[in-house]
Amino acid sequence: MIEKLCIIGVGLIGGSLARALKEKGYCKQIVGSSRSADHLQKAVDLGVIDSYSTDMQEAVKGADVIIVCVPLGAMEMVFSKIKDVITPDTIITDVGSSKQSVVDAAERAFGEIPASLIPGHPIAGTEKSGVEASFAELYQRRKVILTPLENNNPEQVEKIENMWLQTGAEVRHMSVQHHDEVLAATSHLPHVLAFGIVDTLAKMDSQQEIFEYAAGGFRDFTRIASSDPVMWRDICVNNRDALLKVMRNYIEDMELLYSLIEQSDGEALSELFEGAKGIRDKFNDMLQG
Ligand code: NAP
Repeated sequence: MIEKLCIIGVGLIGGSLARALKEKGYCKQIVGSSRSADHLQKAVDLGVIDSYSTDMQEAVKGADVIIVCVPLGAMEMVFSKIKDVITPDTIITDVGSSKQSVVDAAERAFGEIPASLIPGHPIAGTEKSGVEASFAELYQRRKVILTPLENNNPEQVEKIENMWLQTGAEVRHMSVQHHDEVLAATSHLPHVLAFGIVDTLAKMDSQQEIFEYAAGGFRDFTRIASSDPVMWRDICVNNRDALLKVMRNYIEDMELLYSLIEQSDGEALSELFEGAKGIRDKFNDMLQG
């Protein structure tokens, strides 16, 4: 059980966690904090949190667990605001989509990496934002990656792991660096491609016609380009090195594909497409299984 959980940033991710934990009765009290009293009042009205304060220091007082669910670019500011009012027993965790940048932000704010910081990242989400978009089932059968640090207390790590297990998620551990590389490839690259292709098409002369005739393929491929631009700006900047590395690989593969099409090399193209289809079909089976 958690006595007092403080969620800083009660949007899609923080709100969905609160809803799931409330359904399980896992926290005696859930307090929210962020910039806007209107957003927080909405979260109270929807039954997502019990109370709130826009004063972060007030909100975190007496909390046994603080979870920071704000965009990556706001993490350091949050850590700086709460650093003087927390004790070594207060567990601080987060949901940020890149992990090295969160650890670095904490180090800058606290002057050292706090032993009670247990970085985390739920691999779940939608292209929607805000508490209205949150739902209790978001984490069911989804993975949550924790990237525990050397100086973490195993009991505190276990407490955060148990919290996520309550939501129906599967918890995995990874190093910070490995997390950032894996997520750059599996999540950050596809989002950059979706934003990029919409931008490319929008700039073409006949954009009216292009969007008029865009069908299922365009819709499936670009759904995630409706995601929050601020969040994705922050992810790109905060996971820059890992993302650039995987983008470079992608650009090289695109050049290869370009030359195969240029040379009308049907045999090589079908071999490449067969391979990709086989992998995508297996992934589909895995999802359905
Ligand atoms: P969201 O729905 O937009 O919620 C963000 C929350 O942060 C809002 O409650 C907002 O409330 C608050 N906030 C924003 N800027 C702030 C600031 N400067 N100071 C204090 N509070 C601030 O976003 P989300 O999708 O839940 O994403 C939150 C975090 O989860 C991000 O770090 C993201 O990388 C990570 N994440 C997202 C997904 C996804 O698919 N969406 C998946 C996994 C992880 P106010 O406007 O009231 O301040």
